[in-house]
Amino acid sequence: MDKTKRSRAEAWFRYADDLDIGPYYLDRAPQTSGQPQAAESFAGAEPSSAAPPTAEATKATPAPAKPSAPSGFAAAAAAAAPALVQRAAGPSLFESADRVEGDTLDRIRTDITPTCTRCKLHKARTQIVFGVGNPKAQLVFVGEGPGRDEDEQGEPFVGRAGKLLTQMIEAMNLKREDVYICNVVKCRPPENRLPEKDEIATCSPFLYRQLGVINPKVICCLGACSAQTLLDTAQGISRFRGEWFDYRGAKLIATYHPAYLLRNPAAKSEVWKDLQKVMAVLGLQPKRR
Ligand code: URA
Repeated sequence: MDKTKRSRAEAWFRYADDLDIGPYYLDRAPQTSGQPQAAESFAGAEPSSAAPPTAEATKATPAPAKPSAPSGFAAAAAAAAPALVQRAAGPSLFESADRVEGDTLDRIRTDITPTCTRCKLHKARTQIVFGVGNPKAQLVFVGEGPGRDEDEQGEPFVGRAGKLLTQMIEAMNLKREDVYICNVVKCRPPENRLPEKDEIATCSPFLYRQLGVINPKVICCLGACSAQTLLDTAQGISRFRGEWFDYRGAKLIATYHPAYLLRNPAAKSEVWKDLQKVMAVLGLQPKRR
């Protein structure tokens, strides 16, 4: 299969997984009531629609919460799926391998080097997109990899998906500068294809180090790539989206990628619910209009 066909096929599988229909349409049962209303937009999210922290969110623990009863394909998949493998909360052999004594964000950036050629992504990239925001942020958003705009500007999430992420952050009553934003891979994958395994394996130690230095209270994974990387799982994001996990002492939650929301605005309500859980943990009130 040539590269273009492969990228298209990968994009389709990712899209199907995000849609929770599964690659082979195992179950086309219609979703029944109890589904939340889609939020109009994050910037326009009504304070009233942002319910106060729920007991579930307030009690959130690093262990995976009991998921609310899923329906359709999700239910079948959840029943069939093995439990998500949890990375140990305490130091592990793996962790010590990427821990650097006295580490700093500047040091990580220097270690990457602007001319990094560790993986094949260097061939088509314009520049490294390291990360941006508050180095002491309580909340870190982790995306997949830079797109065209990010590659040009050297900053993560500045294109269309980035603008939506900024709206999401502001709906949480935060500013972009309050949080830290980075990606699993620091160089743009050609044609915005998914980062490949070897590229993730090469670049992710820098992400682990960034998270180690920032030491956030909450990590919010945007999309499957970052969630699967940090949780060390191959499971589809729809199986564990919105649940809490432990990542080396931080609370980790995965939600849909803003690029997915651009294609599927109705999923904004699901993401808003996830963000409300994050807000509850961080003691944030929704933005008043
Ligand atoms: N998508 C990502 O995952 N990261 C970016 O920086 C931009 C778009």
